[in-house]
Amino acid sequence: MKFLFIFLDGVGLGVNDPLINPFACVRLPHLESLLGGRPFILASLPIPDDPEQNYYLQLESGRATLVALDAGLGVPGLPQSATGQAVLLTGINIPQAIGYHYGPKPNQAVAEFLRDGNLFSTLRERGKNTALINAYPPRYFHGIDSGRRMFSSIPLAVASAGIPLKTQEDLFSGKALSADFTGQGWRDRLGLPDTPVLTPPQAGERMAALAAEYDLAFFEYWLSDYAGHGQDMATARILLETIDQVLSGLLEAWDDNQGLILITSDHGNLEDLSTRRHTANPVPALVIGEPIYRRTFTSSLSKLTDVTPAILNFFARGI
Ligand SMILES: [Zn+2]
Repeated sequence: MKFLFIFLDGVGLGVNDPLINPFACVRLPHLESLLGGRPFILASLPIPDDPEQNYYLQLESGRATLVALDAGLGVPGLPQSATGQAVLLTGINIPQAIGYHYGPKPNQAVAEFLRDGNLFSTLRERGKNTALINAYPPRYFHGIDSGRRMFSSIPLAVASAGIPLKTQEDLFSGKALSADFTGQGWRDRLGLPDTPVLTPPQAGERMAALAAEYDLAFFEYWLSDYAGHGQDMATARILLETIDQVLSGLLEAWDDNQGLILITSDHGNLEDLSTRRHTANPVPALVIGEPIYRRTFTSSLSKLTDVTPAILNFFARGI
């Protein structure tokens, strides 16, 4: 069975206000088709019968289940990227252990948790083939090697597990995806004019093809957090429409019998453009696949710490 983990940085489930929440004003037909036509906002989740209940119910459609995950984890302050991503990749409440949320890049304390063991290293020890399918440009490796650039939590987890990061060569040969899905950013901003450019649906098809090569394939998208900090609705609109087109190619190419797709995040941001900061909103866990796999997977999900155990359980069941 295959598992495709799509990480969208800084995407929470926000309020139904089109002035501040791009998910409430931009039509995203492919994403919304997974929610029975509802928008990707908190109010789309069913309300518990008991209004005193301090949790959200799950929204189940024919092809997907949406769960709201708590990203605050009982620790004061707004959730941050280094700790949030490290929690997603370890299942450990790291903010509680160190006493604070931290980011964007991991400090020594957060890095130690990731180096001690993470989703990638554990699956590798269990004989599973995993990959981070993002390609990194030459300048990224130069920055890391020279000490000028620090790993963020996700590539740190991958590198600590002894799994090579994908390169320009991988991207050019169709064995990886660029961080902006299409490769256009490598041409425009990295000065690599020979970069092959995909349409967003083609990028989704490639994601499905790459996922088929591994037990667990992981894709990291950070432009969503960047756009949230930028507070610009027009930028957010273009970005969400691109993601929706990627999803169209992915959903077309993906066979629900082959495993599960998880789309989740580390903390809210993009869903509330009224603030430059992260938000305390819950984050989505959108799980796509056959209902029987989905139900087992989502039954234990209510906070960020639940994600790694649920994935390990998915593989341990040997389905
Ligand atoms: Zn951020």
